Amino acid sequence: MNLLDVAPAEAARIIDDWVAARGEAAYRARQILPRLWQRPVAAWSDATDLPQNLRSALESDFPLPRPGGRTEQVSADGTVKFLFEFRDRGAVESVLIPEGRRRTLCISSQAGCAYGCVFCATGRMGFIRHLAAWEIAAQVRELVLDEAYGRPANVVFMGMGEPLHNWEAVDLALTILNDPLGLGIGARHITVSTIGIVPKLELLAARPEQFRVALSLHAPTTEARRAIMPVEGKYPLASVLETLRRFPKRVTFEYVMIRDVNDSERDARELARHALALGALVNLLPLHPGGAPGLEPTARAEARRFAKLLRDQGVNATLRRSRGLDISAACGQLRTEVDQQRDVPPEEHAGVEQ
Ligand code: SAH
Ligand code: SF4
Repeated sequence: MNLLDVAPAEAARIIDDWVAARGEAAYRARQILPRLWQRPVAAWSDATDLPQNLRSALESDFPLPRPGGRTEQVSADGTVKFLFEFRDRGAVESVLIPEGRRRTLCISSQAGCAYGCVFCATGRMGFIRHLAAWEIAAQVRELVLDEAYGRPANVVFMGMGEPLHNWEAVDLALTILNDPLGLGIGARHITVSTIGIVPKLELLAARPEQFRVALSLHAPTTEARRAIMPVEGKYPLASVLETLRRFPKRVTFEYVMIRDVNDSERDARELARHALALGALVNLLPLHPGGAPGLEPTARAEARRFAKLLRDQGVNATLRRSRGLDISAACGQLRTEVDQQRDVPPEEHAGVEQ
């Protein structure tokens, strides 16, 4: 039985029953539960507030699985890339991005990705496998276990994989990340980035918590979007935007700027129209060249002009810088932007250019 792969409230019930069945005092359950997520231990043997026999019994009844062979690479700008190896070809990347005193962790939901966006390195790997909920949340748990890092302020699903393609596990992982009995990260500090799998987007929207949603839009018309994102054939932009319109949640558009593909004045006008209709924030991201042979990033000056066109139309748009380029950080490609914390003025974030 893997207690890390169920909702914390369910783990609490299982532990209560287990403690009762063994004839142990009820308060033991309250010592055991926090060791899953709140004050996690690497193994039960580290839970030294418990008697030895209880630790051994926990180890045999509820072993705590962990990824093997973690490696780290640190970028000159402070970005750290982790490689986690789960069993069965489940190697994934997470990227930790320092922004002032806050840290944002970018996590993966799948090994590889089935959706084949032409600019994306993960897409080119193809689909390898879904991560289990515990494997998604373990990327955060491992950080908490490490004294050098601790709990990140924000978590974004912008690593490898399409989170809504793995909805069942992501749904449970969101509970584990957010529940005070779990990792206790506020819903407004958790962002799900998606290309817009409509039926699953509705399920995410139906959750009562205020999780943030980032839509990978990348091209403002169906024709242009289909050329770079095959998903457009199945879930056209209009249906995705219509779903988001019914969303009582804060939405950000992500827009990777690709030279001569999606950076014209007309693109800016169309994009502005969608953003204003939804009150969406727009994150403009430089294309990470590693992800996309044959495509080039929009020149910086052009990208600034594009951003200004959006702002002139009243759109809240931010042009970001790539982070961790020297270590190919970004979960399969890069990770740049992140952070949708609107309570923080943009100039406090390293990497943001106005
Ligand atoms: N599958 C989800 C989440 C993972 S990708 C999604 O696509 O939203 C996270 C972000 O990285 C997305 O906005 C994605 O479009 C972006 N991305 C992918 N390849 C990139 C590249 N080569 N340069 C810049 N951003 C890229
Ligand atoms: Fe998959 Fe997102 Fe990459 Fe597209 S951008 S291939 S959905 S990970």
